[in-house]
Amino acid sequence: MATVQQELETHQMYIAGQWIGAQSGETYPVVDPATEQAFAIVPKGGLADARRAVDAARKAFDEGPWPHTPATERARLLHEVADKIRGRAGDLALLETRQMGKLLADSLVDVNDAAHTFDYYAGLAVEQHGQTLEVPGESMSMVVREPIGVTVGITPWNFPLLMAAWKVAPSLAAGNVMILKPASVSPLTSLELARIFAEVGLPEGVFQVLTGPGGEVGDFLASSPDIDMVAFTGSVEVGKAIMRAGAANVKKVGLELGGKSPNIVFEDADFEAAIDGALIGIFAGSGEVCSAGSRLLVQRSIYDRFVGELVSRAMAIKVGAPTDEASEMGPLVSRQQLDTTERYVKIGRDEGAVLATGGHRLEGSGYYYEPTIFVDVDNSMRVAQEEIFGPVLAVIPFETEADAIRLANDTIYGLAAGVWTKDVTRALRVIKALRAGITWVNTYHPTYSEAPWGGYKQSGVGRELGTFGLDEYQEVKQINIDLTDKPLGVYQHGKEAPETGKVVSLSDRRPFNEEHESDQWVGYCRNCG
Ligand code: NAD
Repeated sequence: MATVQQELETHQMYIAGQWIGAQSGETYPVVDPATEQAFAIVPKGGLADARRAVDAARKAFDEGPWPHTPATERARLLHEVADKIRGRAGDLALLETRQMGKLLADSLVDVNDAAHTFDYYAGLAVEQHGQTLEVPGESMSMVVREPIGVTVGITPWNFPLLMAAWKVAPSLAAGNVMILKPASVSPLTSLELARIFAEVGLPEGVFQVLTGPGGEVGDFLASSPDIDMVAFTGSVEVGKAIMRAGAANVKKVGLELGGKSPNIVFEDADFEAAIDGALIGIFAGSGEVCSAGSRLLVQRSIYDRFVGELVSRAMAIKVGAPTDEASEMGPLVSRQQLDTTERYVKIGRDEGAVLATGGHRLEGSGYYYEPTIFVDVDNSMRVAQEEIFGPVLAVIPFETEADAIRLANDTIYGLAAGVWTKDVTRALRVIKALRAGITWVNTYHPTYSEAPWGGYKQSGVGRELGTFGLDEYQEVKQINIDLTDKPLGVYQHGKEAPETGKVVSLSDRRPFNEEHESDQWVGYCRNCG
């Protein structure tokens, strides 16, 4: 065991502009899900480290130059970060794949998307502006945007670098500082992001990365009065805990949570395109995607033919090493995720859903699971209601458009939805009726930095990406200016005081203590003299 330990890469956290270990000295291994072998060691950050990061962040925001740095300079730096991400995209993609198991080609897409996110928010940083408002009277009213302060980003393991970019880029573009707490199983690309920020000369404490498990540290950050906002992506359960903890100082909380998204195929859909979209919807990223089309609703008139083709295509998906170009699906992220998937397949079987293909983990090392399809699922079953976050599809038949809408909305979630039909008016009618924040017509999964991302219902609060994503990281201040140079006159200043009949003005005022034996107050006493 000792010899294996010596071969592991050792990493440090990035706190207060320094690369350091946990104050406790504790570390933990990062495991490659394709081999089940540990390949890196990272610090197990604890409360002492979190406190240090919060102090540095507070100082960087309250005293540091960053919030007052001109937007053009902030933008220049964020563009430089984007260039550096692109410049080392191959290495970052490989690291992403190694730590969480997604196909290398998918990791490369994520890395380039992350670079684009930094470019996009660099552009918005210089373009954003306030407002001047028409108001009654001789007054002027303006609205300016200001950073919120010290922000915390807590990210999941399924898109480690991209989810970090979605938070860090708008937060820093708006002039905030950020502490990033990546998921414990996949911290390495977030640490590389810190390296890039250090290289481009970001001031100390503006961006920090705290590695380690979420529970204690996450709770501390979410409840700390020194943190102004928490932006969280992850499970509904943890999202609720963060919301509760954040209530301690009425902190702003942004939540991007789970989903059980409906992918609806009408009888007039392009058959081939819809089959392809259904497969991508659930098996892309091994189903470990928050917006996965994990409930496939298929119109009864094409149900048998559609399901038959779908199942045979799923059986042909090549599951293998994520670095192998021939692989079409990689492993799941962890043994825990593999166990969860296996548990849900048992639940589905016990509930009476028909297992049409898959349902087994693969032999050998690595957390591999077969692409799995349950057919004839009833929407009330747990496999149709609960997020599995693995390659398991629930196929549900429907009769009419109204049925499809009712079934699609019959969930606690509201993250994403897809509609497949050649009838444009039906597509728009259905999309309008769906309670979901991200929708697609005749496609599934494309995501753009320019378009807001987030869910209805228990899928979240707030939006990331787009201009909406920048708004989340800004306070809005109104400034009202009187243009008359005259007093408002509400409290009789310069007029007769009703009780004494004397004219009162500031020059008349006398100290209270002359008549009231008080040496505390100096001002006008309406009953004196
Ligand atoms: P998770 O909720 O277990 O963990 C997410 C993050 O929260 C991790 O960094 C973890 O360390 C941290 N954490 C854990 N306990 C915490 C606590 N008590 N306080 C603060 N932080 C804590 O989620 P996961 O397993 O990493 O990711 C999968 C989930 O994320 C799924 O539910 C998925 O749908 C969701 N997700 C949503 C989106 C979206 O955009 N809506 C995107 C990706 C993933």
